[in-house]
Amino acid sequence: MLDKTEDIKTFERVIDEFESMTRDARRVQEETLGRILEVNSEAEYLRSLGIDGRTDLDGFRARVPLVTHTDLEPYIQRIVDGDTSPILTGQPITTISLSSGTTQGRPKFVPFNDELVDSTMQIYKTSFAYRNREYPITSGKALQFIYSSKQFKTKGGLAAGTATTNVFRSSQYKSTMNAMQSPCCSPDEVIFGPDFHQSLYCHLLCGVIFWEEVQYVSSTFAHSLVHAFRTFELVWEELCNDIRYGVLTSRITAPSIRDAMSKLLKPNEELADLIHAKCSSLSNWYGLIPELFPNAKYLYGIMTGSMEPYLKKLRHYAGNLPLLSADYGSSEGWIGANVNPRLSPELASFAVLPNIGYFEFIPVKESPQVSEKVHAGGISRLVGLTEVEDGEEYEIIVTNFAGLYRYRLGDVVKVVGFHNATPKLQFICRSNLLLTVNIDKNTEKDLQLSVETASKLLSDEKLEVVDFTSHVDLTTDPGHYVIFWELSGQDIDDELMRDCCNCLDRSFIDAGYVSSRKVGAIGALELRVLRRGAFQKVLDHYLGLGSAVSQYKTPRCVTPNNSAVLQILCGEVVKTYFSTAF
Ligand code: AMP
Repeated sequence: MLDKTEDIKTFERVIDEFESMTRDARRVQEETLGRILEVNSEAEYLRSLGIDGRTDLDGFRARVPLVTHTDLEPYIQRIVDGDTSPILTGQPITTISLSSGTTQGRPKFVPFNDELVDSTMQIYKTSFAYRNREYPITSGKALQFIYSSKQFKTKGGLAAGTATTNVFRSSQYKSTMNAMQSPCCSPDEVIFGPDFHQSLYCHLLCGVIFWEEVQYVSSTFAHSLVHAFRTFELVWEELCNDIRYGVLTSRITAPSIRDAMSKLLKPNEELADLIHAKCSSLSNWYGLIPELFPNAKYLYGIMTGSMEPYLKKLRHYAGNLPLLSADYGSSEGWIGANVNPRLSPELASFAVLPNIGYFEFIPVKESPQVSEKVHAGGISRLVGLTEVEDGEEYEIIVTNFAGLYRYRLGDVVKVVGFHNATPKLQFICRSNLLLTVNIDKNTEKDLQLSVETASKLLSDEKLEVVDFTSHVDLTTDPGHYVIFWELSGQDIDDELMRDCCNCLDRSFIDAGYVSSRKVGAIGALELRVLRRGAFQKVLDHYLGLGSAVSQYKTPRCVTPNNSAVLQILCGEVVKTYFSTAF
């Protein structure tokens, strides 16, 4: 580990590098594109486009089309199946990331390589350097609620796991965390444990054991932080017991975790009494985190976008501790770092690192269909990183070192100023996502399939679903899916409808949804049956706003922003059912 003066110098160097690179963002972008095209000049994909060896921007713009993941799937599939020829990259890809599937709304394979590990470390160090300038950390540990997914081998023998798992497993990750003076409280066996519940319990136990050393508390996405402390409320007495007697609860059954924890856990009556007293002193768990970890300086994690609904609860646990929102990226690669850590999560933005990829932007200003037009061929409106305009919204296009060229990530961002010459982006939304409470992602298609499956149960009763829509209810805790059904008949058999409700819940097969339902991070699906004519009222409402019947489409997901439609639907409910499927 570096000594303190060396550390400070390292962080100053990181900041200097970032400042100088962002001042020269345009040149750095062009150089980065040149490097990407050069190292991948042998790639079959680029050669087929006539880019074999050309590294200039004009040639790139003229010859490389915008693509989605679907367009690249045939190439990625060959890699996954073990073809080691240069397909998308010059050097063969040996690892695959399993993205949670923002773009398509379902998990997908994304090429992963060492350059992505390097840029991950670069972004971690950059945001840490800025964070550390505001909230210095010179020793101690980080309580990180991080979990590895299972890694598996693809048919072609490539290692596959989520991007974070691939990063956590890299040797650079540990050395970077150590250099940042924040080694994780928990041993690897806990991070890589086979069971989420057991890992979570042991993360909490490790945090309590190292309570005085904890400098900050973090997770990748804020949802895991809230989930962790909700769990703490339930298990704190058990944790105290473990500490008092130095014996790990029998609920931890994974031998690897038991082994690793037995090395940390020693009988400590004094600590058990202290933690017990701290917990007993709190009213409704307000300020739990600073009470448990008095030397913690902040909470850290992605708190923007779909994580914002968790901020209220997080602030409750955090008391007076600041919430620092983490960086912006995806399985396809990182994009920007939060270099203004003092801003609240609601205002957080991400300064794009111009050397980790080549970035382009499609303005979404004039019409919501702009991006579709662009996709259809008219790419004249595409702008480069340094050409974006303050205050405008864009769909982001990524070219990276791991074989993605002009790739539509599926996110809409807003430019909220510049850091030197690089834009600061705020995350606005995922462009095609429909239903999400936390890590789950279900598209209109998933909803449709689920409704189709469940409505088959009605056929014996000669009933039909006339129309349907959905809503994500985050006013309940945890949030849950609501499906609205209008049926062709009024004679409703409660038992049958309960079966339909369970079937709907089970038919969402997205891994994020299923795992969240199993651990109770998403509540029971609710089926609300509407009075006949309800959707006519919705249509009338849209017609009143100027829509034409011939172009009318029932909104398949009604957000709280669409309060008028939500109000119409809620006013038409005749019966409500909750799933008992999980
Ligand atoms: P995945 O590829 O499954 O890791 O998901 C990446 C997606 O998560 C991005 O495309 C964004 O939609 C979302 N995301 C990542 N970082 C942030 C952030 N800082 N704020 C809001 N959304 C984010």
